[in-house]
Amino acid sequence: MAVRRRLENWREHLTSWSTFPVQDVICPGCGATRPPWHWDWKQQGGFGRQLIVVENVFPGEAVPTGSLLDLLHTASGIAWRYFYVQDFASGS
Ligand SMILES: [Zn+2]
Repeated sequence: MAVRRRLENWREHLTSWSTFPVQDVICPGCGATRPPWHWDWKQQGGFGRQLIVVENVFPGEAVPTGSLLDLLHTASGIAWRYFYVQDFASGS
């Protein structure tokens, strides 16, 4: 049975997640192992091959409409999700 727990040391994984091969992440709650993009980040982070960045929106301040997500799905052939990022240090 899956037990959900917070991944406290996620920042320590960032370097390995930004390169390949990516190491699976072990759930501290139940020991389940899966790639980080299969985790539920509760829209506080995420992974993607294609991203659309909308800046200056606080988490929860705005949410993509279902019709926008449907339009993106139709145009690209893949389902889209969204997440928020705060204090992102891109180094640029
Ligand atoms: Zn778990």
